[in-house]
Amino acid sequence: MEEVRVRIAPSPSGNLHVGTARTALFNYLFAKKNNGKFVLRIEDTDAERTSQEYIDNIFDSLKALGLNWDEGPDVGGPYGPYTQSERFDIYPKYVQQLLDSGFAYECFCTPEELEAEKAEATANKKPYVYSKKCENLTEEEKAKLRAEGRKPAIRFNIAKAQRAFHDTSILEFDDLVKGKLHMDTDLLGDFVIQKSNGAPTYNFAVVIDDMLMKISHVIRGEDHISNTYKQILIYEALGVPVPRFGHLGMILAPDRSKLSKRHGATAVSDFVKQGYLTDALINFVALLGWAPSDGEEIKTVDEIAQDFRIGEISSSNSIFEYDKLKWMNSHYIKQLSMEELEERLKPYLEKYDLTELSKEHFDKMIEITREPLTLLSDITDAVEYFFGEDVNYDEKGRETIETEVSQNVLKDFVEKAQGWEWTEENLHEKLEVFRGYWKEQGIKPKVTMWAVRAAVTGRTCGADMVGILEVIGKEKTLNRAKKAIK
Ligand code: GLU
Repeated sequence: MEEVRVRIAPSPSGNLHVGTARTALFNYLFAKKNNGKFVLRIEDTDAERTSQEYIDNIFDSLKALGLNWDEGPDVGGPYGPYTQSERFDIYPKYVQQLLDSGFAYECFCTPEELEAEKAEATANKKPYVYSKKCENLTEEEKAKLRAEGRKPAIRFNIAKAQRAFHDTSILEFDDLVKGKLHMDTDLLGDFVIQKSNGAPTYNFAVVIDDMLMKISHVIRGEDHISNTYKQILIYEALGVPVPRFGHLGMILAPDRSKLSKRHGATAVSDFVKQGYLTDALINFVALLGWAPSDGEEIKTVDEIAQDFRIGEISSSNSIFEYDKLKWMNSHYIKQLSMEELEERLKPYLEKYDLTELSKEHFDKMIEITREPLTLLSDITDAVEYFFGEDVNYDEKGRETIETEVSQNVLKDFVEKAQGWEWTEENLHEKLEVFRGYWKEQGIKPKVTMWAVRAAVTGRTCGADMVGILEVIGKEKTLNRAKKAIK
């Protein structure tokens, strides 16, 4: 059987989008499942929109997600180069082949002439299709146009190719995801395969690259379906096998519009900056259009690869539920060992002077604050009160310390706690007795604890109180409690 070879071919005109990450993942899974190869090709022919920063971002993001490629610009491979801009000398030969076989022709129309054609179509409320004005120019006519200084673009002759290989204008193909799809190719228009400056267009370069890189299956977003018809005709005109195509539904925002920055992060690197774990992100992305057979959604990429069948990908659009991703992220955070978690939290603790805490107290702080973390970045706020001498009260915290009951509780706390030995076990015991005493005075234990917590942390809820007192230490605790007393 023919070797399975798939590819992801991002255009570096931005940071790696989650949608591209999903396309990359499905290609990667398909390769894994079939013992095939996963190729990375950078499609950087649009020089104005391309930047090295975006290329680096694509590399880094794919690697962070664990989507390692077998062949690509950095690792090389038998069918390189894998960066399109380094392949410009490859394309002219194939353009010439199509010119010679009559499946392509030179077009001398100026941008103004083409604009006028388009304007006429719009005025007549007709979809624009190139008039084929240049299809049958004689050698003499061409020579004359050349003499005027015009440089031809090369157009693909759709009708000619279609009629040569199919007996109707309808082109049909069997999509791996969507099943049978078809289109009337007379509506496509003779598209340009090489611009007048000699540069290949996307639809042409992609076919030549996929052909030479021996790509067996092209899996990509459904926004490329209309390109697929053009590409199939080019393969046929070149006389080479056509790969199988599979088109994935779109990813929509919860409001069903196109996912964009106004909904939240869209680039993988932005999710990472916000405190998402790449393990959670890739797990979540896999579920956009695919469902595990056992219904168990939390899965590693390796586990997903075992279970993955391309025919089971949903052909409809998927909704990007940020809330579900957050839930998954919190799940993945809980799975991390203390060591891994601390390592990943470090970037979010940069504003604090960590030397204020011993290693033991740092560990304790993380241990008692990790449970509610949804994003790694939540840690910044969660540990704020462990640092510095004074405490910032939030609104409830301020209200709480100002009540008469709290003031009485705090005075008593300062007096009693002075004599406490500051160990976990002892603090447990002493606080228990302290609460018991105030209960006898008719104050509910939770009200007693609110007063202490608000004075020491500025807040009315948060981590385990004994742990907090332990980490903050006796001196700072008492100072804060004293300052809270009017
Ligand atoms: N560079 C194209 C894109 O980013 C690739 C499309 C394809 O997979 O053929 O949309």
